[in-house]
Amino acid sequence: MDNCLFCKIINGEIPSTKVYEDEMCYAFLDIEPQAPVHVIIVPKAHIESADKVNEENSKYIAHIWEVIPKIAKEQGLKNGYRVVNNCGEDGGQTVMHLHFHLMGGRAFAWPAG
Ligand code: AMP
Ligand code: ZN
Repeated sequence: MDNCLFCKIINGEIPSTKVYEDEMCYAFLDIEPQAPVHVIIVPKAHIESADKVNEENSKYIAHIWEVIPKIAKEQGLKNGYRVVNNCGEDGGQTVMHLHFHLMGGRAFAWPAG
């Protein structure tokens, strides 16, 4: 997808600090971390937001949820963590390529925002 920041990060046009990669997803450190550990996990397919998940592309999402515990373990998150997806304008999504925030290393309040 032209002009998509996270597609450019996936294909290496824009640098990132890689945390994990396989054939379906890419994970890298958030540039403005909100917690001691803040990883962004993206599908390698350009899916605009969680609202665009369907029968054809949901395998990427299922796969990311299999990968999340592996990354959490690698990052030393022994005491739990938070996974966030911001969807659309009201959800606070700023980059229109579906992504999950994996955050940990501190306790989080609830409800958020
Ligand atoms: P969201 O607001 O859910 O769309 O999240 C977008 C996230 O991408 C924010 O937490 C940003 O800090 C992060 N971000 C934006 N540009 C970059 C970049 N070049 N490298 C890493 N993270 C980025
Ligand atoms: Zn994209």
